[in-house]
Amino acid sequence: MSYEDVNSVGSDEDKSPLKLRHSHTRHRILSAAHRRSDDPRTLLDHPVLRLTVAGHQAYLEPDIIAFQHDGDFHIVEVKSFPVIYGRPDPVKVTAALTQAAAYVLALRELLADDGIPRDRVSDTVILVNPRNFSRHPTATPHNARQQIKSLSRHLGRLRRLPELLDKLPPGTTFDLAPGSDGKPTRRRGELVAALATVRARYTPGCRHHCDLAFHCRNEARNQSRAEALGTTVRDDLAGIDTIDTALALTDGLLHPARDQKDITQALRHAQRVHADLQTDIA
Ligand code: SF4
Repeated sequence: MSYEDVNSVGSDEDKSPLKLRHSHTRHRILSAAHRRSDDPRTLLDHPVLRLTVAGHQAYLEPDIIAFQHDGDFHIVEVKSFPVIYGRPDPVKVTAALTQAAAYVLALRELLADDGIPRDRVSDTVILVNPRNFSRHPTATPHNARQQIKSLSRHLGRLRRLPELLDKLPPGTTFDLAPGSDGKPTRRRGELVAALATVRARYTPGCRHHCDLAFHCRNEARNQSRAEALGTTVRDDLAGIDTIDTALALTDGLLHPARDQKDITQALRHAQRVHADLQTDIA
């Protein structure tokens, strides 16, 4: 087992710039993946990865990348929430896996750019947590397949953002045109019409930070959008935009597209379980 900290590449004291750490991370990972080095390196601490988000490069900092356990790369995340008698908080685990999913995709992107198969990066993420409020760590493998698929679909859509912007009517603006007293001078109907040209991505969490939450909630409900039921439902139904579509796929009224087959199977299974429970109750 060997270990390298990429936190400080050029000097022992300062944290090196992201680009330099990314370049160092990339070199180390590709060397290990191609087995160019005799060094049986297994752990890379504070690596920097790059993920393409809506056509832009975003730098990400996973805690650790574990090299080549059984030939696969694994992302390791160190978390402060405890595992109590073998049971971590499921909400915190889901959040941690969603975060780790971005690192998995970034690592896959790095390998794929060099012609290495994406499946060399495992869907299994290792979470390291305190055990039973003690200072002793415990490491648990978690399957992040669902989070990886969901994030991948969302990113696939974001890549099309520039094309979506091109489709907006010329001159579209949400400017309130405030007057000298700071109050909007723009007509309400004009602003609502401008908002209607852009599809909102409302989730119930919007109510905590956005003044448009009630407007977007009404729109989401009127359009039967899946995200109106919350981010968990939206992520579980990734690739299916509306509740109407989900119901039609479940009832067999719609044929699932290739990337909808898994979720359609899961929905139909849930429907059968629900029907069995109803029969038992009756
Ligand atoms: S409420 Fe705000 S953040 Fe949420 S979708 Fe509407 S504009 Fe976007």
